[in-house]
Amino acid sequence: MPELRQNFFTKEWVIIATERAKRPEELAMHHPPKVVPPFVATCPFCPGNETKTPPEVLRVPVDLVQPWTVRVVPNKFAALSPTLQPTRTIHRSRRSISGFGVHDVIIETPDHSQVTALLPHLDIANILRAYKSRHDALSHDARIAQVTIFKNHGKDAGTSLEHPHSQLIATPVISNQVRQRLQQALRHYDEFGECMFCQMIEEELEEKQRIVLITEHFVALELFASPTPFCTHIYPRRHMASFGDISSSEIADLARTLRVVLAKLYHGLDNPDFNYTVRSAPAECVGVKYFHWYVSIIPRLTRVAGFELGSGMFINIVLPEAAAEFLRNAKVEGAAGAGSG
Ligand SMILES: [Zn+2]
Ligand SMILES: [Zn+2]
Repeated sequence: MPELRQNFFTKEWVIIATERAKRPEELAMHHPPKVVPPFVATCPFCPGNETKTPPEVLRVPVDLVQPWTVRVVPNKFAALSPTLQPTRTIHRSRRSISGFGVHDVIIETPDHSQVTALLPHLDIANILRAYKSRHDALSHDARIAQVTIFKNHGKDAGTSLEHPHSQLIATPVISNQVRQRLQQALRHYDEFGECMFCQMIEEELEEKQRIVLITEHFVALELFASPTPFCTHIYPRRHMASFGDISSSEIADLARTLRVVLAKLYHGLDNPDFNYTVRSAPAECVGVKYFHWYVSIIPRLTRVAGFELGSGMFINIVLPEAAAEFLRNAKVEGAAGAGSG
């Protein structure tokens, strides 16, 4: 029987279409084998081509004598410009703001042929530290309202460059989607006196069936009303509203958790295209008790079509419980001991 499930946080309804349900492995990508070289002379992100990007704003390690492992550079084709001022104009029914903002590219590794899912967790920790450093610096800029960190992997996820990289866009406004989630979470806190994310995490840890992975500081799970197959969330087990509040030991643990989840998707579903994003409280909500940051990983296994665009409702053809079980059982290196609890 098909079932409609409601997302606890957004109140959006999802159709879990068990009638046309697929076994998780049926969604594997089956990419034709492709040999990617570790260096591509025309790639602006490969070592030796540093002058093809704007000057870096951050580098790991800082010492210029050492070869870099992570570089953060302004996006050459930035969506927004840091040199403008965020001037708001309201004219009758029309409102606009000059296109102020910051658009960074985080080059994750010097090796063109790598994929994030297979990087050592120490390298992923460096990437996460670069995210935090830029997130913190931009959150302190009074002109910035929201910092969105995201990764596009593969053509179906919207990437144009093969070299492993992620992005950050800082905007002078809070998006309506984020605003609505904050308001929903605040309403829940006012009514029940607790963070709705902490409540859900506690329930999921008790029920176990949608848990993918538990580590010292994080839990990875499939949402009860997951809008798309294998949409996986990683939550800090400690209440924290902002990604900027993460401690150094938590960064190390998040790196291991993210690597294991990405590797499970990589091996289990044959390197699917995916997006991930860090959903964090905007700068003005740092420290609030009602919001809880998390990482959302969205494999692009099915296409958004007319029904989704027309109704805002998604049809998910994989049971979240089956997706969780599949990922729990996907064997990857370094996941030993981090059981499903
Ligand atoms: Zn490259
Ligand atoms: Zn919480």
